Amino acid sequence: MFQVTPKLEGLTPYQPITGKFDVRLDANESFLELPWEVRETMAAKLILVEANRYPDPAAAELCKAFSDFYGIDKAFVTGGNGSDELISIIVNCFLSRGDTLLTLDPDFSMYPFYAFLAETTNICLPKDCGLFLTADEIIAALRQYKPQMLLFSNPCNPSSLGLNRADVRRIIQSTDALVVLDEAYMDFWDESLLQEAAEYDNLIILRTLSKLGLAAFRLGFAIANPKLTDLLRAVKSPYNLNTLSQVAGCAVLHHPEILRENIAFIRRQKTELLDSLKALSGKYPNRFEVLESKTNFVTLLMDNPDALRQNLREQSISIALPQGKYPRITAGSPKENAAFLAAFENYIKSLNI
Ligand SMILES: *Cc1c(COP(=O)(O)O)cnc(C)c1O
Repeated sequence: MFQVTPKLEGLTPYQPITGKFDVRLDANESFLELPWEVRETMAAKLILVEANRYPDPAAAELCKAFSDFYGIDKAFVTGGNGSDELISIIVNCFLSRGDTLLTLDPDFSMYPFYAFLAETTNICLPKDCGLFLTADEIIAALRQYKPQMLLFSNPCNPSSLGLNRADVRRIIQSTDALVVLDEAYMDFWDESLLQEAAEYDNLIILRTLSKLGLAAFRLGFAIANPKLTDLLRAVKSPYNLNTLSQVAGCAVLHHPEILRENIAFIRRQKTELLDSLKALSGKYPNRFEVLESKTNFVTLLMDNPDALRQNLREQSISIALPQGKYPRITAGSPKENAAFLAAFENYIKSLNI
């Protein structure tokens, strides 16, 4: 009888929050829909797709459009089926069984998962109670554990905190390990190392269009020096990015002004949400703490967070609770944020302290 390899026993599929909610602030998606102007360009191009032909394995036009938008050289860019696929490829291919991967905790939940599948040793460095580690603490851990790879998100999901450029540079320069810097949220902060990615021999930066309104198309990118880029292109499956996604991504990236406006709008909404939550934490002291936010979401620290999530859910408002611990609220439209804030204040008011 066929026996599943033991490491796969008991694994279950990733289950995002599903169901119908009036207000969905749980997945760090963009609350903005694609403008009709862009949809029409997209539709016109999709009609012409040669369905009988394989996609361009290099996704050349898409990578060029991405490079133009961010002002970098397309020679440094590899396309992925979401940055999630790139994380999986990098962990599986740039580490060998038994190698050590250093991650931080809490951080993006997929990192330890892929490390587990790749049969690497995953050392998870715990953050302090404010969900932060300094560059020096990370550098000390690199010296101590001598990992082959360091993988972390900056700014971080779920803490929303970040290390500035100078700190990240120091980390990269302190080690011979490959540093995989997941900048999934860097469109909402201004401390990216994208412009200098190719200057390092040990750096891969990951970016995604998922937080900018294109989550449906699964468009992720790895940016690195030519040697690492060649390797990434060599190890990925040839047709990882389907033609529809490539075409859709190009159509949007060819409207840079719309993307920029959307980013600015999301940032404004995030700032308003953050300020409102800070005001509530002043009004109702000792009930919860608001972390600073460098992303498109705001993270809270509080006791019994599941009760909050449940309470909101009963009002058809969905927020995330990474690791079951940290309420994480994606910035929504003005209306969605207002609905959340009203329900949240009611809940907080009712808490006995
Ligand atoms: C959302 C997210 C991703 C995944 O992005 P996709 O491109 O949609 O796969 C990667 N890293 C972090 C930290 C994220 O929050």
